[in-house]
Amino acid sequence: MSNKSSKHHFTKYADAPPKHPGWYIWRCEHKQLKGVVITFIDKFRKRGAGHTNVLSPSFDYWNGYQVLVPNGLDWAPYEGSPPKQNIDHTLNINELTLNKCPFCNEVPRLTYSGRFIGASPLDSTDWRLKCCSWITGPRIPNPVYLIEQWNKKTSPKPGLEETITPEMKAACIGEFTVQHKEQCFTCLSSGAIPECEVCRGEETYTVNVPVPWATMKDIYKAMLSHSPAYKAIQQLENQL
Ligand SMILES: [Zn+2]
Ligand SMILES: [Zn+2]
Repeated sequence: MSNKSSKHHFTKYADAPPKHPGWYIWRCEHKQLKGVVITFIDKFRKRGAGHTNVLSPSFDYWNGYQVLVPNGLDWAPYEGSPPKQNIDHTLNINELTLNKCPFCNEVPRLTYSGRFIGASPLDSTDWRLKCCSWITGPRIPNPVYLIEQWNKKTSPKPGLEETITPEMKAACIGEFTVQHKEQCFTCLSSGAIPECEVCRGEETYTVNVPVPWATMKDIYKAMLSHSPAYKAIQQLENQL
């Protein structure tokens, strides 16, 4: 396995396991999910193995003859405090980063359910993101899909509001008018006066009313949201 992480210096377990018991960072492909590489914190401890004791990670497997660890296992030293609950175990999956939650502004943490009590993330059955109480998302078996969905949902969309610049406003405000027919009040009360300065005896006259800026923005946004270019951008985003 290539040493992708720049943060931790990993050693292949098959080459040299850790020398001392304690908490370590482990990196390994999930036992069922191909291509899902999980970096997590777990314990390296003494355990019975037949007639002897050996040091082994707590997610090992005893086949009746010897203690086995998953293929391709890497480890790195860990200096933080021991995880208290399974939400503290997983550091990252496929080195993916998660967007901050738009509600609490925290990066949500990955939590999982396992095949059995005390299962490591390598034996997870489903995953969920946790931060503030706003997240009650579904449990998803593949954590990569879960992360991708979360990032897609929380990535800022090009807001139509943002596309209106001060320059656009300066150039267009007051530039549009609509014609409006008004009743001539002078002629309305006394009958049409041919020499009326307002309506010239026509009893109505036309005024040009400027289109309010708020209305112009609404029209612009509505038209833009239906434009082929905007639809193309959204379609592209949905594919990412
Ligand atoms: Zn939150
Ligand atoms: Zn008049």
